[in-house]
Amino acid sequence: MSAESPQPWDVVIIGGGLSGLAAGIRCAQFFKRVVIVEAHSKLGGLNSYYHKLDRRHLFSNGLHTVTNFRPTSRRWGRDLVMRNLGMSWDEFEIRPPRYPSRISLPGVTLAFDNDPRVLEESVAARFPSEIDGFRRLCAVVEKESVVLQASHADCFEFLRSFIASPELVAALALPILCYGAHQEGTIDSRLFSILFRSLLIEGCGSPVDIKSMLDRLQTRFRSLGGELLTRSPIASLTVDGGRVRAATLADGRVIEGVRFLSSAGLSETGKLCGSQWGKPGTISVFQWIGAYDRPLEQFGIRDTLHFAASRVDYTWRIPGDRVFSDLITYSANDNYAFPQPGHAHFKISCFSHASEWSLADRDAYAAQKRRYADELLRITYGYYPELSQARPLVEDLFSPLTVERYTHHPGGTIYGGAEKTWDGRTALQNLFIIGNDQGGVGIMGAMTSGVLVSNLQVILSKAG
Ligand SMILES: Cc1cc2nc3c(=O)[nH]c(=O)nc-3n(C[C@H](O)[C@H](O)[C@H](O)COP(=O)(O)OP(=O)(O)OC[C@H]3O[C@@H](n4cnc5c(N)ncnc54)[C@H](O)[C@@H]3O)c2cc1C
Repeated sequence: MSAESPQPWDVVIIGGGLSGLAAGIRCAQFFKRVVIVEAHSKLGGLNSYYHKLDRRHLFSNGLHTVTNFRPTSRRWGRDLVMRNLGMSWDEFEIRPPRYPSRISLPGVTLAFDNDPRVLEESVAARFPSEIDGFRRLCAVVEKESVVLQASHADCFEFLRSFIASPELVAALALPILCYGAHQEGTIDSRLFSILFRSLLIEGCGSPVDIKSMLDRLQTRFRSLGGELLTRSPIASLTVDGGRVRAATLADGRVIEGVRFLSSAGLSETGKLCGSQWGKPGTISVFQWIGAYDRPLEQFGIRDTLHFAASRVDYTWRIPGDRVFSDLITYSANDNYAFPQPGHAHFKISCFSHASEWSLADRDAYAAQKRRYADELLRITYGYYPELSQARPLVEDLFSPLTVERYTHHPGGTIYGGAEKTWDGRTALQNLFIIGNDQGGVGIMGAMTSGVLVSNLQVILSKAG
């Protein structure tokens, strides 16, 4: 079956990231002719992989953690996704952490793990007068994570309605902002609650690398008869009478379809249609990855994830003119309970704007990456002194421009644009947004989005 088929495809999915793959699997259970069209040679989008030097060094460029490890409802998160994909969680071989994770700010250290009592006890020990408010917050978060309208536009205000201590408010907001806040300043209480529940209540785990997870999703999609076109960037969408009729690839091939789902982003999809939609995001990332020849625990790294702030009164705004080392995220890829030793990859990330970077002068770009990495490593040795004596076998550094190049997201935004569609609908009757810009942030969030938008906007309308 070729892209230029005489018959239109039942469903055309733009993008083979996690939302596109999940949507593809879901739609292929109901429609005969489903195609995923991906610009790159590899799947995964923002959470993909690459090899460095030789095939031994497979780097997952994202994958700090997969959330929703311990389901709290059959109708939410992990179980909802697995049931809809017709897959079992065990297939993905996602292992729990071997060490707890940490939130640290000056004067405050909290631990969290897949057992939510770890965080609760940590809060009770450091902030005894706040424990009742914290428990109320956790109960409300579960409710707020399923509402249609957020109760508060500002998650800090939401937190302050339960907690008086500014230190505890800052500590609880930190991992959530780092893990998925799509706009600077603040996010609303609904998205905050979805992320809080996914990470801090349901906990996390990891496959040995993201490739194994993507391979399983791809196998499932193909087994249902789905077609995958890689190295096939879509250059434009042809709109006719309020509907998308076809996608034209950069090489001129034309793909006609009845329904279209796009994970390219709201404003990016608007551009493909010749329209202006949404509001592009600004949040991207600088990341240093070091691959070591020994388990990371041997360098004293006994955190699985670590969200660190250098000040309690941090703001969720990227200054843009310096290394934003006020907030740093660490992940130790081999600190999960793998049956065989995992990749001893240590990741250090900070948030950054694409506008801080330029490729005009290659030497200056390389020097800037080195400067950012050295600044992050200097701070890191304060937390993990033994690491300063170790030399990585291979290191890799990427900037917002790298993310932009490999994902087509302008500015290398990692959590999508500043506007979300929530119900997936666009101005066009048969075109829907999935993934980050529908509000499904993170690996599990993107897959949830692919499933839900397929169900609500594509499969139900077929049935109706
Ligand atoms: C460094 C980093 C670390 C992260 N760590 C984690 C983590 O530990 N845990 C977690 O849960 N989440 C993490 N995330 C976030 C997570 O990766 C994303 O939220 C999620 O992958 C988004 O998936 P998506 O399907 O919405 O979009 P994308 O992954 O952006 O997929 C969109 C796809 O569409 C393709 N595309 C775009 N335009 C076109 C076009 N015109 N034609 C054809 N194809 C097109 C792109 O190439 C891409 O493959 C991380 C992100 C980054 C960048």
